[in-house]
Amino acid sequence: MKVASFDIVFQEIPGEVTLALNLSNCPCHCPGCHSPHLADDIGEPLNEELLNGLLARYGAMITCVAFMGGDAEPEEVARWAEYIKDSGLKTAWYSGRPTYPNTPKNQIIPNTQNPFDYVKLGPYIESLGGLKSPTTNQRLYKRVGDEWQDSTASFWKKTFDI
Ligand code: SF4
Repeated sequence: MKVASFDIVFQEIPGEVTLALNLSNCPCHCPGCHSPHLADDIGEPLNEELLNGLLARYGAMITCVAFMGGDAEPEEVARWAEYIKDSGLKTAWYSGRPTYPNTPKNQIIPNTQNPFDYVKLGPYIESLGGLKSPTTNQRLYKRVGDEWQDSTASFWKKTFDI
C-alpha cells in the first residue's frame, strides 16, 4: 500500500481538520475519475516511519487522519487506522465501493471491530456528482456511539434568495 500524496484539508470531513492520505493502486476505475493517476501503484510505502513523520509534523494541527482509497487492501487500511487511533486522532476512510467489506445484512457498516469515526461509501458517478452535489450517490457516515449517522447533507450548502 502506497501514499501517492497528502494534504491538510478542511472540507472532506465536516468539522475536522484532516490529514488526507491519497492511496494509490485504486481498483475501482470509476468512469470520469477525478484522480486517474491513483490507479497506478505509485508513491511512498505506507509504514510506521512515514506515518510517524507526518504525525510529528502535522499532528498538533489536525484532528483526523483520512485514508482516501485503499480498496485493494481494506484490511490494511483498517490496520493503519487502528495505529492512528492510538495517537488520539479520529480516523476516516473514503472507499470507492458501494458497501463496507463483510457487513452484516442489517447494518450499513459493522459496528464492532471497526476503527473508523467516519466512512465514505460509493463510487464516483460523474452524472450524479461527488459529495458536494445533492444528487450524489455517495454517502458519508459518522459514528455516533454504536450507530452510523448519514452526514452527507452537511456538504450541501444552503442558498438564500435576497
Ligand atoms: S474510487 Fe476515487 S480514485 Fe478510485 S477510481 Fe473511483 S474516483 Fe478514482
